[in-house]
Amino acid sequence: MVNSRQTLLHYSITPLLLALAWIVFAQQLCAAETKIWEQFSGEKAFVHVQRLVDLGPHPAGSDAIEKARDYIEEQLRHSGWQVTRQAFTDDTPRGKVHFVNLIARFSADGNAASSSFLLSSHYDTKFFEAIRFVGANDGGSSTGLLLELARVIGQRPNVARKIELVFFDGEEAYENFSETDGLYGSRYFAKQLQADGAKQFRAGILFDMIGDRSLGITLPADSPAAIARDIFAAAEALKLRNYFSYLDRDLIDDHMPLNAIGIPTIDIIDFDYPWWHTASDTIDKISAQSLQITGSVALYYLSELALKH
Ligand SMILES: [Zn+2]
Repeated sequence: MVNSRQTLLHYSITPLLLALAWIVFAQQLCAAETKIWEQFSGEKAFVHVQRLVDLGPHPAGSDAIEKARDYIEEQLRHSGWQVTRQAFTDDTPRGKVHFVNLIARFSADGNAASSSFLLSSHYDTKFFEAIRFVGANDGGSSTGLLLELARVIGQRPNVARKIELVFFDGEEAYENFSETDGLYGSRYFAKQLQADGAKQFRAGILFDMIGDRSLGITLPADSPAAIARDIFAAAEALKLRNYFSYLDRDLIDDHMPLNAIGIPTIDIIDFDYPWWHTASDTIDKISAQSLQITGSVALYYLSELALKH
């Protein structure tokens, strides 16, 4: 009686163990085959945006932007990136202001591959005296997106080594965009790159205002044509083409100083945003799905087109 029960147990457990082993094996197989653009989480990016908005207004030089920097750095390190602070002081219409760009590289020695791809966003919020401006979309959305891109790309060292991330300070002008107001961080970054000479980037993407829950990316008219074509192709491949179109004009943004020194850089931006530079640019205007759309198209573009060879 005892023997037969043991036998019964033996025969009933073996197939179960085999099935379990197969499930574990199949899951590993699946993980290896998961496409990089499917690993982007709009929800995770949204959480970052929420955290930045929770800091309140964080214009350049404020105490709050120092907290934003700490948060960004902590997240980047957690994803395996090494962060350098590029600090400088510049004259503004409100006097001298301290700015800090955050530059993240993946390789152990802190130097990205000689010909790498630049992904960027500004993380400052525009200074307003009269309103409480938290920049959920303008400053927050693209920073949250870039942090989630860092997590996904960081899981693939071979891809990550070809990429450098830059979080620009001081994108916003105090008065009006001019040669001496606005784009403080990207102008300084470009100037330093030129002075260094050796480092060259093959191309770049700037993300700005990509979280609008009613998303419609409007690529500026002067976007580098080859990159724009590939972004459209990536969107098409993911059946997201209807979210992407051309704007009928150019835009002043952090991509300009990069293009000016010969790094073809596209501005992925949704400039059709009713709450732009108002107190209503708040988290309720942002959706995880919009972040997901931009993030997955960017990852498809990078892995299947820009960095394919
Ligand atoms: Zn702005």
